[in-house]
Formats: sequence, C-alpha cells, structure tokens
Amino acid sequence: MKKTRNIFIALGIIFCAVSCGNGWLELEPSTAINTDEAVKTLKEVEFTMNGIYDIMRSSDLYSGRMMYYGDVTGDDMQAVSSSKRTGNYYRFSFTRDNGPSSHWAGLYEIIQNTNLILSRVDGIKVPDEDTGWRDNLKGEALAVRALALFDLTRFFGMPYAKDGGASLGVPVVTTLSDIDDKPERATVATCYDSFIADLNEAVQLLSPKFSKGRMNRWAAMSLLARAYLYKGDNVNALKTAEAAIEGAESNKWALWSNKEYATAWSNDASAAAPGEILFEMVITTPESQGKETMGRLNSKDGYDDMCITVSFYHLLKEDPDDVRLKLLSFDKKKYAYVFKYQPQAGEDIMDANVPVIRLSETYLIAAEAAVKTGDNEKAVKYLGAIAQRANPSRTLDGAAVTLDDVMTERRKELVAEGHRMFDVIRNGGTVKRIDETDSNLSSTRHFASDREFNWDFYKIILPVPKAERDANPNVAQNPGYDD
Ligand code: CA
Repeated sequence: MKKTRNIFIALGIIFCAVSCGNGWLELEPSTAINTDEAVKTLKEVEFTMNGIYDIMRSSDLYSGRMMYYGDVTGDDMQAVSSSKRTGNYYRFSFTRDNGPSSHWAGLYEIIQNTNLILSRVDGIKVPDEDTGWRDNLKGEALAVRALALFDLTRFFGMPYAKDGGASLGVPVVTTLSDIDDKPERATVATCYDSFIADLNEAVQLLSPKFSKGRMNRWAAMSLLARAYLYKGDNVNALKTAEAAIEGAESNKWALWSNKEYATAWSNDASAAAPGEILFEMVITTPESQGKETMGRLNSKDGYDDMCITVSFYHLLKEDPDDVRLKLLSFDKKKYAYVFKYQPQAGEDIMDANVPVIRLSETYLIAAEAAVKTGDNEKAVKYLGAIAQRANPSRTLDGAAVTLDDVMTERRKELVAEGHRMFDVIRNGGTVKRIDETDSNLSSTRHFASDREFNWDFYKIILPVPKAERDANPNVAQNPGYDD
C-alpha cells in the first residue's frame, strides 16, 4: 500500500468530497459532505498537501502528459509513429468532443484541493514556533494552485501577447466550490492576474530551504519569472529571475557542471546536494506511477514514444562538443531519444524523477528578459553561463545577444521538458516542421499534416472536454472547434 494512499484513508471522506470525482464540476451531492470538520491542524494540512503532490505525480499530469505536450506539438520532437501515446498531440488530431480530459479535470482537482487548504489554514491557531510551518504550507498551496492555473491557461487559452490577454482563459476558482457552482471562463488576463498574485504571496511565505519533492521559495519565484515572461512583463521577469538565481545559489543550488551534466539527471537531489532541480516529481519504486511516465516514453528500452526530429539533431550537432549531445540515445540509427529521465539508483526507468522547474530555465528566463529590455550585459551573463556549461570553450564575452540566440539555446537546453511549442507561440513565432534526413536517424520523418503554424492556428490550444461543457453550460468551447 502506498504511503500517500494511507494518507487518503486517514483523511477518509474528506478527500472524497473534493477529489474522487472527475474534477470539481462532477461533485455529487452525496459525496459533497460537510468539509467543516476537515483540515483543522497543520498536520492535516500537511497530509492534504502530500495528497496534492500525489495527484500531481500521476502520469496523466506532471510525470507524463503535462510534460510531453509542449514538445511533440513543436518542431524539435515528434511522436515516433501515429499509434504512439504522443501521436494525437503531434498530429493535432483532437476535435470538438474528443480532446483529452485529464488536463482540465486533473488540474482543477489540484486547484480544488489547494482551495480546501487555503480556506482553512489562516484559521488554524498555532504556537509561535509553528508559524513558519503554517506559512510554508500556505505558500506551497498557493504556489501549486498558481502552477495549475498557469498550465490550464496555456493549454486552453491563447498566448497573452496575441491580444493582450483579452481572449478566453479558464474559470478562476479560488474558493471551495460545490456542485451548484457553474463558473464561466475568465479572460487570459484575469487568469494571469490570479496566478501572479498567488505566486507573489507564495514567495513571501515559502521556506528558502530544500524540501524533497515540494515547492520552495526559489521554485515559486522561478515560476513567477516564467509567468512574467509569458505575459511580456520583461522588467519583472528579469528582476524576479535574478532574485531566484541569487536566492537559490545562496542556498546550495547550482547549475550542474559540464562534467556532471550527462548523468546528473539520475541524482537523487538532497538538502546537501540539491543540484539544479528546483521542483520535481519524485517517483520511487514503492510509489511508482506505472509505465506511462516520461522515463519510459523517452526511452528505446521503454515505450519509445517520442523522439527528436532530424532538424533538431542537426541544430544540436552544429557544435560537436556540446555536452547535450551526450543525452541522445540512438536506436539502431533509426531514432534518437533524450535521456533526461534517468532513473535513480536501483530503479526501473519508469520511476525516473521528473524535473518541473530547473535552475537552467531560470537563467534562460533572465537572459531572454534581458534581451527584451535591452540589457546586453545581463543577457551575456545569463546566456553565457548556459552556453559555456554546454561547451567550456564557448564564450559570449563581447557578443551582442539576440532573441534568436536565446531561443536557440532554450531549444538545446530544455528539449523534452515541455517548453518548445509554448516558447515559439508566446513570442508570436511560427512552428516549422522541416523535413531533413540523416543516416543516424534513418526512420525519423514527419508524418503530421500540420507542418507550419502560428497563433492563428486554432489547434495550438486544446478543446474544452465534452464532459466539462456538459456539466457546466457556462463553459464555452474554444473557437474553431465548434465549426
Ligand atoms: Ca525516482
């Protein structure tokens, strides 16, 4: 029996009230019991928070689908074939009523459970020595709620820059909801206001110290920097990313070195050696999430679901001494996989931990925001650190860094971590899936019909699942899917 499942049992029907359905819209009156008796001590808040992390760890969410979507919808990775799990994403084969349900339902399940904590935690009386514990738990709930809403907004809402956030985002739910609540979709701008406010509050409350598999101040601050960057608030993106880097590095986090880079992904991050993982899904053999996780999907020894494109391979090997080439794992000169999801000692590959926020990304956010605010000195500093780590003989000293330079480095550094399509689209760019050939990737070829698209393509966001629209007629479908 998994430990976290025991926690559910300990809390009994409390969790059933909020998480046994398929999201908050499907609460049944019979299970929507009185939660007034729930979560009355910090220990119970912590149990509930552990349960939330357990929900997040599911391969339907942050150890699988949530992570691969942004890669296989872009130009640097693809599904190996149409029958693979990633095939529908890669081919944009969703229609009005057959989109995936887990993104919407799972993320609102997380939000509903964080709302349970946030509706209680301020009212819990604690001795003075426990106020830091209470603050940290509240910060965790706020940061996780923000992450879920951020992801809902980018999966279901158009990029902020397309229309200044005027188009439809998702419902913003910040209180415990019940079956009678039928919220409408808020604008993208309102969603941004909500998760940016949550993150600003979270970073004031969260501990600066490492805590295995949990949110900390620097992870939340990096996520806030990411949110500002997506919004186009580059001044705050730069300021926040720099503060996150400085804070993380004064609390033992550090970029992996060139020497350790190829294998550091298998490290079991600890307080003594947190490496550069700011927030991760910790998967262990006793708490295995099964075979649908990133570890197996990205391996020739697993489901070999998603591989790099030939064009990306050519981009990466422009510098034959780039350490990131060492992460490529070739299958009989047919396909290449990205071996970032390395199992920890003694584990099966399916139990590899899944990084969600990594210090390298914070550096790249700082570099991009610096370029966009015209601060070349800082662009050189932050991009240079990533470039030189990849190849110590590279230097950007004296260079005039362009946005293209940063985006190219982002592609190389963050491939297979769920970013690429969002990165192109949020900057108003065009995804181009180019046909190239290479004798080392002899079977890798594009087979999607959508080869070139920008934010005018309605399928860059998902359709709202049919079950959610049926349960709540106030939730509109995304334009294009209704035609
Ligand atoms: Ca693991």
